Amino acid sequence: MVSHADILILGGGIIGCALADELARHGCRVLIVERERLGQEASSAAAGILSAQVDCVQPDSVFELCQAARRMYPRWVEHLERRSDLSVGYHVDGIVSLAMNGREERVLSRQARWQLKQGLRVERWSRKELRRNEPYVDAAIHAGFYFPNEAQVDNVRLMQALAIACRKAGVEVKEQTTVNRLIVRGCVIRGVETNRGQLSARIVVNCLGSWASMGGSFPVPVPIEPLRGQMLAFRSSSRVFRRILVSQRAYVVQRRDNRLICGSTMEPAGFTKVLTIEGMEGILSGLRQISRALDPCLFLEAWAGFRPATADRRPILGKTAIDGLYVAAGHFRHGILLAPITAQVMADLILRGRSVLDIKPFSPQRFAS
Ligand SMILES: Cc1cc2nc3c(=O)[nH]c(=O)nc-3n(C[C@H](O)[C@H](O)[C@H](O)COP(=O)(O)OP(=O)(O)OC[C@H]3O[C@@H](n4cnc5c(N)ncnc54)[C@H](O)[C@@H]3O)c2cc1C
Repeated sequence: MVSHADILILGGGIIGCALADELARHGCRVLIVERERLGQEASSAAAGILSAQVDCVQPDSVFELCQAARRMYPRWVEHLERRSDLSVGYHVDGIVSLAMNGREERVLSRQARWQLKQGLRVERWSRKELRRNEPYVDAAIHAGFYFPNEAQVDNVRLMQALAIACRKAGVEVKEQTTVNRLIVRGCVIRGVETNRGQLSARIVVNCLGSWASMGGSFPVPVPIEPLRGQMLAFRSSSRVFRRILVSQRAYVVQRRDNRLICGSTMEPAGFTKVLTIEGMEGILSGLRQISRALDPCLFLEAWAGFRPATADRRPILGKTAIDGLYVAAGHFRHGILLAPITAQVMADLILRGRSVLDIKPFSPQRFAS
């Protein structure tokens, strides 16, 4: 087998590309193998919400990872925008989490309390304050919790910028190339077999997102299941919301061009990439509970994608028992946020054998038994 690269990255979503860019900038010869085109799956389907607080229900290892990612984001965006000459729509507008009733308010109050103790910013807004700050939200909404440090990014633009950055850093990309199986001799990785022949490398990183188990043929257990998310996009004639709004039933992210990105469902539906009446109706009724000001908005498009979910909802990051074989997958609802920190900890691990952050809670070995 001819040696093709120092490091093979399987999967060209945001995780594979962020890691490839990081490794190439450290001087490695990196090759991404991608079945379709870079970033066409979950990484483009996402809403681009960078939530290191709203989605975190307890101060655990995922919360710590999200915090570290959020700290890295401004510099990562700067790097990508400089390399690509594209704007990726990164804005720290904050998120308002809406409490529709007293029970939801109690849950959000508990979350606000532990996050305030961690030194993070959260503000409780009464119904009146909520309407003052976001005039178009429905008057019946009980209260709002404002998380001012949360942000959004246009993940489709971000993927385009990242693809350009990768190529400029010297990453080789093989698109339309499917990895069929891994080549392992003894307990050492040698390369992969694709639909276009064999590729060899001493280091292989599985960044296949929802497909990481490769239909069960990946040589170590990576139990990740796809959770389908349906999404709808509309256009308004002006800026309706200043911040991202989320409720238990729906969320809406307004981009600067007045597109409204709305989601989402969370369904175990295998790899069936379709939209359903039930799914879309759920999003629409959730949106109408948030605001009737959206009623005249124009429908633009709808799509579905797969969140890569592990049973414990933690990503899988680290070395496997096979020499030279690594996994960086299972980022569930946080992959857009977690891309820069994943790239950093995985590059540290591959190049120096250790990472600045404790990634033991994310080890692939936790599924090894
Ligand atoms: C509807 C929805 C909304 C979301 N919203 C957010 C959000 O607001 N914020 C956030 O942080 N995260 C969000 N997420 C989650 C985020 O999108 C994912 O966690 C992230 O994109 C995962 O990136 P990835 O690179 O691991 O996977 P992917 O982007 O899915 O990339 C995996 C790649 O592997 C390729 N591949 C698969 N099999 C093979 C093979 N055999 N050979 C070669 N290539 C292969 C695929 O084609 C794909 O390009 C959302 C996800 C969805 C679905």
